[in-house]
Amino acid sequence: MSNVRMTAGTGETVASAVTDKRFGIVDLHSHPTLMSYMFGTRFWKAHHPPVWWCPWSMHVDFDALEAGGVKAFLCSTYVLEREMFVDVWPLKIVTALYPRAKHIASAPMDELTREYLDFADKMVVETRRLRGDVIEVARAFDDMQRITGAGKICMLHAIEGAHHLNGNIDMVDELAARGVCHMIVPHLYPNEAGGCVNVFSKYRMPAKCGCFNAKYQDTSGLTPWGRELIEKLLDVGILVDATHGTLEFRKQVLDIVRNNPKKRPLVMSHACVTGDDSSEFGPTSEEIKQIADTGGVIGMMMFTHREASQPKTLGIEYVLNGIDHLVRHGGDDVVAIGSDFDGTTDVAKDMKSPRDYRPLREAMLRKYSEDQVAKFTCGNAERALKNGWGK
Ligand SMILES: [Zn+2]
Repeated sequence: MSNVRMTAGTGETVASAVTDKRFGIVDLHSHPTLMSYMFGTRFWKAHHPPVWWCPWSMHVDFDALEAGGVKAFLCSTYVLEREMFVDVWPLKIVTALYPRAKHIASAPMDELTREYLDFADKMVVETRRLRGDVIEVARAFDDMQRITGAGKICMLHAIEGAHHLNGNIDMVDELAARGVCHMIVPHLYPNEAGGCVNVFSKYRMPAKCGCFNAKYQDTSGLTPWGRELIEKLLDVGILVDATHGTLEFRKQVLDIVRNNPKKRPLVMSHACVTGDDSSEFGPTSEEIKQIADTGGVIGMMMFTHREASQPKTLGIEYVLNGIDHLVRHGGDDVVAIGSDFDGTTDVAKDMKSPRDYRPLREAMLRKYSEDQVAKFTCGNAERALKNGWGK
């Protein structure tokens, strides 16, 4: 099946179209609060980070979102898993020296989750105080439409990892009530819902230094608690995401989603799409079709990472190749954006921050029709949010 239409636009068409609101980006996955929560970095200040990891800089700040023409972004809550503080031994020194790190390593996870969500809300309040009526948090899909319709940038709350619930499924109601729209169930270490792919296996140097031990990993599928959680998320209307889960885990989640009477979409918010079906991270060609059949979407990450065997291609070239692959196997309606900015260190030289959405959009418009680009940049993600978020 191939719906790829390589309609080349003229330079003039492309130039006028990049400012068109139809192509405003909805980014399904980024972590603008991660650096600020841990290190106090400011979202309202413009940053120009290097390509390597830098704790006092960040990729997603207000100016970068505005410059890149972002309509809405999911701000993914991520409090480091407890296992990280055992597995990565230098963190033991950090927690002994810094009260902030000690707090993150020891306070109850559900309390930290609330604190993190409050922190993200305050980040927007602070930005509005300093920059004006330019950004708002949406608590429901209608709210998101109102905010983006008024030309403001819209932030949505999301959660990465079921460990944030501290084993308490009832907390899902509380998260839904405060407007959380999306949850990635597995993450970097096994949690109450099941196992995950070992993302650290490629880091040989830290492993030699005694970090990222395989003994803390577990690649099993969903637990009974995990099944209950998926059903609960589908019921209350928080988008379900199995990114970071193993193939077996993802298959089990897909079965539950397909059989749920509410017919919710399944999403993979941030996928490294290389066309390699043997990649344990997926999505496989078959999964792309299956996710599309639920009305779901797959968010293209803005750079390659995870797989040591993959050649390091430039960001925009990789994103366009990934889109081709998604369209070939799932059609036009499955493609979305899920950058993972500020969630990983390996940004590409031509895709360092949301500022680079502008050249990406131009490149997309040279290759695809305007209708297709409108779906890829925002239309498909908005459809998934409309059908998966809220009762
Ligand atoms: Zn992730």
